[in-house]
Amino acid sequence: MVTSEYLTPRAIASGLNRGFLIIEDDCLEKKCSICKEFFPADKEFYHLDRGKLKSRCKPCWQDTKHHSQITNQQEEIKWVIF
Ligand SMILES: [Zn+2]
Repeated sequence: MVTSEYLTPRAIASGLNRGFLIIEDDCLEKKCSICKEFFPADKEFYHLDRGKLKSRCKPCWQDTKHHSQITNQQEEIKWVIF
């Protein structure tokens, strides 16, 4: 049984069952909820939220952060125009 310091054995069992976790070369890999790619389930590939791995990989997390910054800027511009 593969263990992870970021996932409980129960979360691992349920993830494997539901297909968002796989075991690759004895390492646990987690599916990103955005790009649907599998990456090793550790803090190198996923940000941590209170000790748990977030559902999006780091690149996808960066993307959404970037998009929301753009949206905020556009909203500010609109606010200035009106
Ligand atoms: Zn991703």
